[in-house]
Amino acid sequence: MDSPVVIASGRPKPRPDRPVLADRPGVLAVLDVVRRGDATRQEIEIATGLGRSAVTERVRALERLGLVEKGEARVSSGGRTPRTIGLRADAGCILVASVERSALGVGLADLRGRLRFEHHEAVDPVRDPEVVTRRLLALFDWADEQQERPLWGVGLGMPASVASRLERGKGGGASALEAVHDRLLGRYRAPVFLRSTAQMAALGQAAQLGGGLRDELVYVELRREITASVVTGGRVQRGALGAAGLLGHLYAGESAVGRCRCGNVGCLETVAGADALLAAAAQAAQAHPCGHLARLGARGGGLDLPDIALAAQLGDGAAAAILAQAGRAIGTALAALANAVNPATIVLAGEVAETGEILLAATREALYRHAHPLVTRDLTIIRSVMSRSAELFGAALTVVGELMAPPFIGSWIDRGSPADHPEMLALLAELGSAP
Ligand SMILES: [Zn+2]
Repeated sequence: MDSPVVIASGRPKPRPDRPVLADRPGVLAVLDVVRRGDATRQEIEIATGLGRSAVTERVRALERLGLVEKGEARVSSGGRTPRTIGLRADAGCILVASVERSALGVGLADLRGRLRFEHHEAVDPVRDPEVVTRRLLALFDWADEQQERPLWGVGLGMPASVASRLERGKGGGASALEAVHDRLLGRYRAPVFLRSTAQMAALGQAAQLGGGLRDELVYVELRREITASVVTGGRVQRGALGAAGLLGHLYAGESAVGRCRCGNVGCLETVAGADALLAAAAQAAQAHPCGHLARLGARGGGLDLPDIALAAQLGDGAAAAILAQAGRAIGTALAALANAVNPATIVLAGEVAETGEILLAATREALYRHAHPLVTRDLTIIRSVMSRSAELFGAALTVVGELMAPPFIGSWIDRGSPADHPEMLALLAELGSAP
């Protein structure tokens, strides 16, 4: 996994003269196993290839650092009941937030991603970004004051187009987003990770799925933006600029003629994004003044996605056609992606997926028609039932995963906390005094 966007720490501790850990690679290998889920010593031996006494020794070293603890006893088929070893949830805590066009979610999680506090509120979609940022900081401040454990990191999820713009700006001119990032860093003095909400939610979703389904997964967010997050080998693929998964900007074929926000013509979002569906529904309502769409639209406030779903259920042919066409376009794009990465599971999420069975059936049908038979043979397609809390859970897992990924972890593990990462001091000095 790659290094975080920016790191900083304000709580330096005296550096030891020599590393505390005699065998870092072995210790990191053991930690990598237990952070993915509680494991018995025997399971750690199998996963790391280390012998029995070596595992015991490494586990002791991690216990001394305060990073792991004994978990529950496993039911054994005979003999001694094996105890599991797991990440010590209370060693630190993570501030997490998800900023969407019309919703803001904020939480405080332990190192296993469990939320100790969370808050969700609606925001005005045409709000001033500065107002939202100030609100986010106020909620983070409140959450930070409630906890006594060291803050290990901050995770912020945002729409994919925003997150990728941020990555592009890295090292170049200071964008408004970079400024937000630096404010978080200066204020909380812990590593800050910015990702698309789909990349963060994918990990939360993967953690909720069982064994074979979780490691090879495509998580698709069907909203105003259409974003796919690809998980292979249990890790989210981010791409060179962190912009992997802009599925909504795949060419949707010759019948797609609208100009996209990205500047191209014919992107998937122009036929299957939430805005495209609403525009098509408004047009259909105008063309058929006696139809269900026109009637629902006339209640005031305009049409929304549930209105289109309801109209289709009531037998409005135009509404059903809009959803079916969008589903076919989504399924065709997903077939290309599925052929490329061969996932075990495809998870469909977001308010466009929530319009129901007409769109989902069309998606499945197009996917099965256009993908290679080998790719769809054992493919599981599910609709996400993740709540907003699960997105924050995924954000916390993302931060913990990044903090514990090599080579980043190698520079702090001797000290027991990423808040003591040496690069932090340099970066904080560069940023000057915190805002
Ligand atoms: Zn586009």
